[in-house]
Amino acid sequence: MRIDIATLFPELCEAVLSESIIGRARKSGKITVNCHQIRTYTESKHRCVDDVPYGGGMGMVMQAQPIYSCYQAVCETLPEKPHVIYLSPKGTTLTQKRAVELSQMPYIFLLCGHYEGVDQRVLDKIVDEEISIGDYVLTGGELPALVLTDAIARMCEGVLPSEECYQDESHFNGLLEYPHYTRPEIWEGEAIPPVLKSGHHKNIAAWRLEQSLAITKERRPEMYESYIAAHPPKEKRRKKR
Ligand code: SAM
Repeated sequence: MRIDIATLFPELCEAVLSESIIGRARKSGKITVNCHQIRTYTESKHRCVDDVPYGGGMGMVMQAQPIYSCYQAVCETLPEKPHVIYLSPKGTTLTQKRAVELSQMPYIFLLCGHYEGVDQRVLDKIVDEEISIGDYVLTGGELPALVLTDAIARMCEGVLPSEECYQDESHFNGLLEYPHYTRPEIWEGEAIPPVLKSGHHKNIAAWRLEQSLAITKERRPEMYESYIAAHPPKEKRRKKR
């Protein structure tokens, strides 16, 4: 999978994407992520990429031309059209399900807005989907693009050691995850739940599911109800007389 990020702050994106699991996945070639400076593509003598909004108002608007030229340059290096996502507070809120779906796509182009936003005409011309990372407004699309890239990349084959790493995780199967414990066995007088030291895999799995259900019911009742509706408790077998 390859992700191309169009931004006015490629160094900011590179700094984050060079670290930890995503950094290692890039180095080993499991995923490709390229950050492109939109300003490189401006035809303006003064290297401008934004201008005042028609109709008046505060702030500046990113111009269509540099973004479109950047998009075209990226397309020329790809065998097919990428799926184009504009990070926007007006978009559909990101979910784990959408991140998994996007991780199956071969080419994704992410557009980071800044200032008041982007000239609508270039959005209408190239964007397939608008994604928001939550109901609040940030100064730019870089952090949302990094959040999205991380959520997608860790779902790509080979980025995490195995599917087990994420199958029990919050939101993957419609539940929030159970609590974790590590050494020492007793910390500040608090012991770990004994079942986790039992070595009995079936009991550990049952305890974890029970914990997941309880946490989800308490913190996200609507999620719990959907899970229960999709996984009705199995009918108990009648006892033979
Ligand atoms: N004027 C815009 C509005 O009211 O919808 C907000 C512009 S915001 C200050 C600048 C840029 O940050 C946006 O173009 C977008 O790329 C990004 N952005 C801000 N909040 C975001 C969010 N919650 N999710 C995704 N992108 C966001």
